[in-house]
Amino acid sequence: MPFAAVPPGAVIGILGSGQLGRMLAAGASRLGYRVHIFSPEAESPAAQVASASTVAGYGDDAALDAFANSIDVATYEFENVPVAAVERLAALVPVRPGARALSITQDRLSEKNFVRGAGAATASYVAMSGPDDAGIAAREIGVPCVVKTRRLGYDGKGQRHVDRTSALGDSLDEVLIKAWTDLGGVDCIVERFVDFVSEISVVLARGGDGAIAAYDVIQNRHRAGILRTSVVPARIPAAVADAAESVARRIAGALDHVGVLAVEMFVTADNEVIVNEIAPRVHNSGHWTLDAATTDQFEQHIRAVCGLPLGGTSRLADAEMTNLIGDEVERATRVLTEPNARLHLYGKKDARPGRKMGHVTRLFPRSG
Ligand code: AMP
Repeated sequence: MPFAAVPPGAVIGILGSGQLGRMLAAGASRLGYRVHIFSPEAESPAAQVASASTVAGYGDDAALDAFANSIDVATYEFENVPVAAVERLAALVPVRPGARALSITQDRLSEKNFVRGAGAATASYVAMSGPDDAGIAAREIGVPCVVKTRRLGYDGKGQRHVDRTSALGDSLDEVLIKAWTDLGGVDCIVERFVDFVSEISVVLARGGDGAIAAYDVIQNRHRAGILRTSVVPARIPAAVADAAESVARRIAGALDHVGVLAVEMFVTADNEVIVNEIAPRVHNSGHWTLDAATTDQFEQHIRAVCGLPLGGTSRLADAEMTNLIGDEVERATRVLTEPNARLHLYGKKDARPGRKMGHVTRLFPRSG
């Protein structure tokens, strides 16, 4: 059901305060909104550019209620916000996307069940909650496989790859139990390793009226589990790009999503498209849209959650986005001498290894 628009001038609340919140706040302010950030982190990338911020835990009900009373609509910038916090807010103010998208996507098992239910392919998987599940996982999934924590995994954290070498000498059951124990003995899934030729993502926005606007398919390269580069357009056959977009559209519809949604997928040598993950939010692989699309993903998300018309998603140039990770940021300003590059820094003080500190987008004439 379409909802009444939240007009420019209103206050948008954002749960979470990293770089995604920062870029959402910038997009919102361009449209004349004010932004209030809620997060446990002080001096965050998002709070630096917002008009108000609350530093409090997601379990702090009084702080959540006061936040709700100071905003007109809320959204979130990452999917590990506790569902209970979103439900509490949603009783007082519209939250888009809602608690359902969050609860499905913050658990890899419910996410994969949902993706399958929406008619899209995933790698085969089984749940592993304890040593007793190792036998089934060994029989049904086999090697090579990946053991992943169901919750709180990101940037390759919370994963163990198991292949023939790691299984050498021990039974596969024992190796799986060891991987599960290494991951802290929490609820996991065991997933078949996909021998992909490329990794891609579709970033799209869906409005409250069900309208969908998708960007061109993006090709992603990861290093040590962390996104390294995103290239657009993806170097894949047009029919595969069309298939990927229709999978993402189907998932967005099944979720009844409002806002930006990203679907990460593998493409196999047979051109099969296999969904890996969905993110009910703006996504790192969509950062190129800031410099090379008619409407960037951050403004697009704001438009969707505020009930404004979605913007055009045309690609104005070919683009390659490279993340600046850890101390790479120290050399970042060299990029400023490149005429076709745009630099984005997130205002983070501490360049810890593996931390996303900024990104560079390089633009090239459209290839087609
Ligand atoms: P994830 O946290 O699930 O997005 O995984 C991070 C990265 O690990 C992916 O982008 C892939 O490069 C790799 N990966 C995860 N799951 C699989 C899989 N089943 N098969 C092959 N590679 C995977």
